[in-house]
Amino acid sequence: MVEEGKVFILIGPPGSGKGTQAKKVSEFLNYSFISTGDVLREEVKKKTKLGNIVKKYMEKGALVPDDLMLKIIKKNLKKKKGIVLDGFPRTINQAKGLDEILKNKSLKIDKVFYLKVKEEEIIKRLSSRRICPKCQSVYNLITKKPKNDEVCDICNLKLIQRDDDKEEVIRKRLEVYNEETKELLNYYKDKILEINGEGNPEEVFEKIRKYL
Ligand code: AMP
Repeated sequence: MVEEGKVFILIGPPGSGKGTQAKKVSEFLNYSFISTGDVLREEVKKKTKLGNIVKKYMEKGALVPDDLMLKIIKKNLKKKKGIVLDGFPRTINQAKGLDEILKNKSLKIDKVFYLKVKEEEIIKRLSSRRICPKCQSVYNLITKKPKNDEVCDICNLKLIQRDDDKEEVIRKRLEVYNEETKELLNYYKDKILEINGEGNPEEVFEKIRKYL
């Protein structure tokens, strides 16, 4: 019998630290890591056909349509030992589509981590987030400062703010999260583990690690 690979999913509002924790989980287990936000940002940066389509949704803080997202995830889901998903699924339709895709790939959703963070904390975190335009390293001007003022420690380039980390877009992203993504907590109720996402990334990861 072929052994099934495990899929771990991280769900949480924007700024809950999903990306950071998903990376930590994938490194800890030596699994592959897929961030749909990173995949989309790369397409936008390269100005591909797909990038030009998704840009207008991302700028507004809206979700990219489900059919496009499912095509993207299907293309990126190559079975290795296991997979950690960051930012996908974000709607019930995406979750159902993912179930269909996994059926044919001998991959199985093992656990869904829900990172819970208060709204004031999210706005504070996201408005002080900065990224390197080249290597995409993520910094925070309050909690994870670069060594030199707003410059990437690795590439030495001036850090930038994501367009969708401006306050009005953050509010829209939170609204979308509350209206669409939160429903997933019920969809995955048998697999959900609620994790308090406040505190530093190492402390949060310690809480997750116990379940891996
Ligand atoms: P993230 O980096 O996960 O916060 O994603 C940034 C933006 O990319 C989101 O605000 C959406 O516009 C888009 N996006 C990423 N993942 C998805 C998804 N699963 N479904 C729809 N839109 C997505």
